[in-house]
Amino acid sequence: MKHKRCQTMNKIVIIDEEKCIACVACVKLCPKNILYIEEKTGKCKVSDETKCDRLRGCEKVCPANALKII
Ligand code: SF4
Ligand code: SF4
Repeated sequence: MKHKRCQTMNKIVIIDEEKCIACVACVKLCPKNILYIEEKTGKCKVSDETKCDRLRGCEKVCPANALKII
């Protein structure tokens, strides 16, 4: 059986990578330090979304509307 790679498995922090302009506003703001810019893709990623406080700070500062907390 082949393992499929899926990049949209997040259940809490949803990142629209096509919209992300890597401005790092969310990375700097996140109090849990779970957001980062991935070197390879130059896009925002989340390391451990289970640590997210769900207060939507990142959502509010993102100028590209690329983040959604659900
Ligand atoms: S909602 Fe808060 S804790 Fe969660 S990713 Fe955004 S800034 Fe970080
Ligand atoms: S604030 Fe938005 S555009 Fe900026 S790095 Fe984060 S997700 Fe990307």
